[in-house]
Amino acid sequence: MVDSSWGEIYKELGAKPVINATGSVTMLGGSTPIPEVLEAMAQAGGAYIYLLDLQEKAGEAIAKMVDVPAAYLTSGAGSALTLATAAAMAGDDDERIQQLPNTAGMKNEILIQTRQRYWYDRCLELAGATLVDFGSEEETTAEDLEKAIGPNTVAVHYYAVEQEPDPHALSLEQTIEIAHAHGVLVTVDAAGQIYPLENFGKYVRMGADFQCIAAKYLGAPQSVGLALGSQEMIRKIGLQSFASYEGRRVRGIGRPQKVDRQEIIGAVAAVRAWMTMNHEERLIDAEQKCRTMMAPLMGIPGVKVEPIANIIGHQPYGVNIEVDPAVTGMTNQDVVDRLKNGDPPVWTRVREGEDRITLHAFGLYPGEDEIVGQRIAALFGK
Ligand SMILES: *Cc1c(COP(=O)(O)O)cnc(C)c1O
Repeated sequence: MVDSSWGEIYKELGAKPVINATGSVTMLGGSTPIPEVLEAMAQAGGAYIYLLDLQEKAGEAIAKMVDVPAAYLTSGAGSALTLATAAAMAGDDDERIQQLPNTAGMKNEILIQTRQRYWYDRCLELAGATLVDFGSEEETTAEDLEKAIGPNTVAVHYYAVEQEPDPHALSLEQTIEIAHAHGVLVTVDAAGQIYPLENFGKYVRMGADFQCIAAKYLGAPQSVGLALGSQEMIRKIGLQSFASYEGRRVRGIGRPQKVDRQEIIGAVAAVRAWMTMNHEERLIDAEQKCRTMMAPLMGIPGVKVEPIANIIGHQPYGVNIEVDPAVTGMTNQDVVDRLKNGDPPVWTRVREGEDRITLHAFGLYPGEDEIVGQRIAALFGK
């Protein structure tokens, strides 16, 4: 291995550390905490702090760095989504805050485009909201949204994916215009929209009331998320949080979604580093690691290898591999499975709906790029 102590802390427990060639995924631990973050977290562990105060100051610091009116740190972007819907429904009424997830007497419907239903929309329901689809599988029009807004509509949710813009979805611009004309809030899931830097916080600057960011894409603990938004929306999100449950003695639904002081400080350090780092260097490093993974795979019969050049988003570059079963006797999935069953396990994946293996450099520690390339080549006897 790269280093004999690699993963030792996990092995001591009998758990198996893995090489992460699949990118930023929750299941493997999110992202690699950068040294600035580890150092900041260690320092935060050296003193206690009143968390209502820390939340406010950390939020102000992040809002300033990202150029949005206000910010709040949550237990992952998932919790930001849950707290935002709770805030949209209960506002600053403490009785309502303590009534959720029972929404009796509150507007409780969140509109979402049928085309934009996605894995994390469940997080919107957890505070008691009901998701209501609008538009069809094929497309969403402005009229669809106009018709869908009713007396119980509290917000319209939008899923922002700059990497793969959906030409048949209703645009965010139109969503904001129509929703706001009806006095309805707009919430945006922009969990991974942090690069190019102008995308970081962009949806709030466009006029959305709220957007989330996942710290798992930032070199921070993945147990943190950022809620960005208007002053009013962020203040109401704070009222729902675990800090308010204890500090204000108002029992909101955010209580089980704690963030520790070290994590809050770590997230601030991660955002600061992200906003000031040399991203050219980050991109060059990712590209280089991809080239290293590809090198031993070139010229293997039945194995097509292609670089991914997309630099939008947090996870740039990558490698696509297509294996021809007629030539190699293996399917793409066989390759993924064999890598995962090897020692140490190497995680790659065939994305849902795709017919190729995708590798990413995002989660590779130094030297692991070489190992990944060699391990794949070895499957084909090279
Ligand atoms: C990862 C992700 C989330 C959830 O974020 P966590 O910080 O893991 O809770 C939500 N939405 C999208 C689009 C994501 O990629």
